[in-house]
Amino acid sequence: LPGLYIVATPIGNLGDMTLRGAEILRGVSAIACEDTRVTGKLLHHLGIKTRMIRYDDHASDSQRGGILSLAAEQPVALVSDAGTPLISDPGFKLVREARALGIAVTSLPGPSAAIVALTLSGLPTDRFLFAGFLPSKAKARADALAGVAAVPATLVFYETAPRLADSLAAIADALPGREVAVARELTKKFEECRSGAPAELMAHYAAQPPKGEIVLMIAPPGEAPADAIDPDELLRAALR
Ligand code: SAM
Repeated sequence: LPGLYIVATPIGNLGDMTLRGAEILRGVSAIACEDTRVTGKLLHHLGIKTRMIRYDDHASDSQRGGILSLAAEQPVALVSDAGTPLISDPGFKLVREARALGIAVTSLPGPSAAIVALTLSGLPTDRFLFAGFLPSKAKARADALAGVAAVPATLVFYETAPRLADSLAAIADALPGREVAVARELTKKFEECRSGAPAELMAHYAAQPPKGEIVLMIAPPGEAPADAIDPDELLRAALR
């Protein structure tokens, strides 16, 4: 059926491609993607030969118009390099305009680093605020953190390895006393999730500079730190 199909793709482990996602990528007339080399590798792995069109939200209106007029007549998929399109990735303008034009939009769920990290972190999951990437400039970053400091929810940010140390320092300043969790290389061989006070994590990553992709999370205000959990007491309770 014609329309725009938003397809989530793996964030590191190719086994996380969904059956429905693969079927749609095989069946559509074209796949709009950020980088044809990155998506080409995934398609090659899946044995799919569908034509790719480069797309990001900086694309010209006429490029976007081209994809939309194709989607009005034929099925077109949208993927990003990894994870769920539109989540700190291109696609928002395309979906907004498709809906305005009455083009059918379907979203096929799959991996998103924010959700994988949150579920792994041990931080409260009942309320969370996904806030994308922190600004890279110090003043803007401090302002962004001050703006969300009082939000009664776990805060989830995308992060890069080179910027982690600066972000941890900024969190120690702006949100003192809050537990932080760093999730790295999710779904990959060296996946890890480490939590503690910002100063502890800063010391750890100063000794062992982080590699790879990172999600940074901050506990809600008023949440007891993880080391408040007494393992002996937990064990006694379990044996009672
Ligand atoms: N749309 C993607 C998603 O749904 O996960 C996110 C795209 S964003 C441009 C890339 C950022 O996602 C990285 O800088 C990192 O913060 C996070 N990320 C992606 N893959 C990851 C992984 N395997 N482990 C940890 N973080 C990851």
